[in-house]
Amino acid sequence: MTASAPDTAPDRVADWIRLIEARYPARDAQSWDAPGLQVGDPRDEVHRVLVCLDVTEATLAEAAQHGAELVLAHHPLLFRPLARLTPDSAPGRLALAAARAGVSVHAAHTNLDAGTPGTTEPITDALGLDPATLRPLQPVAAPGKRKLVTFVPVEDTLRVLGALSEAGAGVIGAYDHCGFRVQGTGSFRPSPEANPHLGQVGSVNEVTEDRLEVELAPSDVERVVAALWEAHPYEEVAYDVYPLEVPDAASGKGLGRVGDLPEPRPLRWVADRVAAHVPAPHLRLAGDPDQPVRRIAALGGSGDGLIDAALAAQADCYVTGDLRHHPTLDARTQGLALVDAGHGAVEGAALTRVAAALTDDARHAGLQAQVVLSQAPTEPWATYRPVTGAHHPDDEEDR
Ligand SMILES: [Zn+2]
Repeated sequence: MTASAPDTAPDRVADWIRLIEARYPARDAQSWDAPGLQVGDPRDEVHRVLVCLDVTEATLAEAAQHGAELVLAHHPLLFRPLARLTPDSAPGRLALAAARAGVSVHAAHTNLDAGTPGTTEPITDALGLDPATLRPLQPVAAPGKRKLVTFVPVEDTLRVLGALSEAGAGVIGAYDHCGFRVQGTGSFRPSPEANPHLGQVGSVNEVTEDRLEVELAPSDVERVVAALWEAHPYEEVAYDVYPLEVPDAASGKGLGRVGDLPEPRPLRWVADRVAAHVPAPHLRLAGDPDQPVRRIAALGGSGDGLIDAALAAQADCYVTGDLRHHPTLDARTQGLALVDAGHGAVEGAALTRVAAALTDDARHAGLQAQVVLSQAPTEPWATYRPVTGAHHPDDEEDR
């Protein structure tokens, strides 16, 4: 009996991209985002992976110190297109430094926000929101659904719909044969080479047709279109297939969360819990500290963009970060209380969970590289407590 040698081949960047993608698929990212490998070569070896919020000089120094050849950053290093890779811009300088050091940089941003663990759990856990009431504040778009639209002479519509359904189109949840049709007028002029199903060759014909639409999965497009050509009576079939961006509530994935406290609490309780448990030492409050709140909307990171979603969800309070003056003021006039816990505070707390989850995933996948959580502070803000009163210490020497 011979013992097989353990697999000691080092991990590659590509192995880790696959691992990260399995937990945080790039398709869950917002359309404006830039997730994925930003610097590096998928074939490079990886012995350590540094998980951080921002790629800065300090995080690259940390990567070097740990011997990490891959940096997984929550905030993309390269976000806007660069015309040149030179040290003249911060992203150029850092990308160049990473490349020179042989360090790959991978970003998981809004796809990480939408996943589990995501960036909102530190808030929802701190508040103990009732799990039965928790749902995404903004569900991700349904993964790649398509819509097929075609135009059929009315007497053939039901037969064509039947054929499309048999090929897999028209399924919505627990329903199949789902379609919609509306009547209109189609026009065409057959050339002498044509062999039209109906109408006069050489003259413009008008026919009463149904516009028929059905949903389908991307994997079914080829089969359904083949069925359409088979079932449609026309020699030339007019049809469109286009991608849909429909919120997919069923996936449970999305930006932020909304849920209820088991019982109403004063706003100050919410602020204190978040400050203590996230922790969020630089927290700001907009609202009456004594007002009772029960439904809480939450989003780790920067929250201006989902204030409307918090209002639509009829939240009493929105806990997030990086709130600007005017959106906050507008939200206040609509009765929403707001807690700004800081952008980096909540996301930084979330990364501890992300690193632990990826460590687990790696063990199950048989990967060997170690995950290291960045300790380099990237929070640019600190709370300043001004010296007030008539005599300022710095004024002493002016006397
Ligand atoms: Zn962020």
